[in-house]
Amino acid sequence: MTLDKPALLQKYEEFKAKKLKLNIERGQPSDANFDLSNPMLTIITEKDVISKSGFDLRNYPGGPLGLPEAREFFSSILEVSPEETIVGNNASLEMLTELLMIFLIHGNRNSSKPWIEYKPPKMIVTVPGYDRHFKLLQTLGFEMIQVNMTSQGPDIDAIEKIAAEDETVKGLLFVPTYSNPTGDVVADEAVDRLASMKTKAVDFSIFGDDAYCIHHIYDNQKRPKNLLKACKEAGNPDRAIILSSTSKITFAGAGVGFIGLSAENVKFLNTHLSAHFITPNKIEQYRNVKFIQNYPGGIDQLMKDHAKILRPKYELVNQVLTEQLGESDLANWTKPKGGYFISLNTKYPVADRVVDLVKSLGVALTPAGATYPFGKDPANSNIRIAPTRPPLEELRPAIEVLALCIQIASWEYGNKNKIVN
Ligand code: PLP
Repeated sequence: MTLDKPALLQKYEEFKAKKLKLNIERGQPSDANFDLSNPMLTIITEKDVISKSGFDLRNYPGGPLGLPEAREFFSSILEVSPEETIVGNNASLEMLTELLMIFLIHGNRNSSKPWIEYKPPKMIVTVPGYDRHFKLLQTLGFEMIQVNMTSQGPDIDAIEKIAAEDETVKGLLFVPTYSNPTGDVVADEAVDRLASMKTKAVDFSIFGDDAYCIHHIYDNQKRPKNLLKACKEAGNPDRAIILSSTSKITFAGAGVGFIGLSAENVKFLNTHLSAHFITPNKIEQYRNVKFIQNYPGGIDQLMKDHAKILRPKYELVNQVLTEQLGESDLANWTKPKGGYFISLNTKYPVADRVVDLVKSLGVALTPAGATYPFGKDPANSNIRIAPTRPPLEELRPAIEVLALCIQIASWEYGNKNKIVN
């Protein structure tokens, strides 16, 4: 593809004149996705206040591990048992934070001392990855060791080496299914190796943030091997901690988070959690369970109905990028089968320039570098696209703008000259 300066500038000016105000920045469901769950708003009635398990949803008793009905239901999503499940409040990120803080202050059940006493404790993270993971680990004082996310999952050769050598490396945090932002899914072989690898730290923990474990956008997708089961089989049952939530099943930030971990870990955490609070919000837990169980076709159909809304958006992004950039090698991008993101890499180190140009045309995009710890992408090439929130008619111009800005930034890089000042 030959890039022609006057033609690029003309296209830029045409988009400028449109005074666009579009957003492909954050991974949020669209209103159409939320609307599927609107009946949940009124599904609880006075008849429900005493749950089937006998707890009064309005009152404290029940303990910190979650309503039995909720532990039963959400354990099935995680493919673990209810005894291996804790159901909490509205965010899996908050549950992750609470766990990390407990481990920092007390260590986990296999630790000889609190993690905070390692100066600093280290956590392996995958890149490109989720900006909120990086911010959280940074805030809590973890040193982050970066390994690449690959189409087979985290770079397992690198992880085995790092984990085997250093006792201060306390764990791995990654997204096993439809990773944020690449959409990669961990291969079964990688799961087995993570579960069985030798670690210098006896309290090494793998935090699998499985926010998208059932978020397929195409039918008949096989889930990766379950990390907790693999860890049990390998004789390291306490190693795996799987986290998820209803944020992209029902309402974002207004549902329930849940985690899967060994029954012994559940007992260990019960002691700590019961010192922190009396009960999670059992009304919200019951409401989500009742709504999803009563959804025609259950959880499978609900996720298929979400997919019906999301699939055309992913296909549109791929179509527009292929149309605009396909003949060139100015960028490559992922074609996920699920999750909430698409990851794009520019050929040249121009991601920051692309994001600035896109912004100048009224399109909000995740800041360049956000997919790396401290916002620093060493190649300055990764751009996260969040296609889920805008309707199709807004998504098309947003991606056209992105493609144009990749062309402009690439021309500028090659010619050491600016097209747009
Ligand atoms: N984990 C990942 C990988 C995400 O992409 C997101 C949201 O984008 C979250 C967690 C947030 O989940 P929650 O709302 O349960 O905190």
